[in-house]
Amino acid sequence: MKYRKSKQRDKIYNLLKNTDSHPSASWIYEKLKKEDRKLSLGTVYRNLKILKEQGLIKKLDIGTGFDRFECKTGKHNHLICEECGSVKDIELNTKDFPYAEIERLTGFSISTHRIEFFGLCDKCKNN
Ligand SMILES: [Zn+2]
Ligand SMILES: [Zn+2]
Repeated sequence: MKYRKSKQRDKIYNLLKNTDSHPSASWIYEKLKKEDRKLSLGTVYRNLKILKEQGLIKKLDIGTGFDRFECKTGKHNHLICEECGSVKDIELNTKDFPYAEIERLTGFSISTHRIEFFGLCDKCKNN
C-alpha cells in the first residue's frame, strides 16, 4: 500500500531512529508535541501503524502493558527491566538452536521463536 509522504511521519521515524529506548507512542507524542502543537496522539498511533506496515519499525510484544516501538527491525532479543520497564537490545546467536530436534520430538513446525529476558537493569540493581 502506498502512502502520501508525511512530515509528521518522518519526524516519528527519525525520533525512533535516534533512540534505543524502545519508546511508547505517548513518549513519542510528548517529545514531538513540543515543536508541533497540532500533533495528536491519534496521529502518532496512525503513523506508527503505517511505518510498521512499511517494515520500517517494529512493534514490541513484551507484555509491559502498552505498545512500544523500535527502529531496529533485524532479529534480536530483549532484556526487560521489571522495575523501571527499560528495554535493552541483545543479539544472541540463535543459529545453533536445536530446531530440528524440537520439531522431531513434537511434530511441531517452527516458523520463529522469541526470547525475552526479564530482571533488573544495572541502574535498578544498584538502587
Ligand atoms: Zn530498571
Ligand atoms: Zn530492540
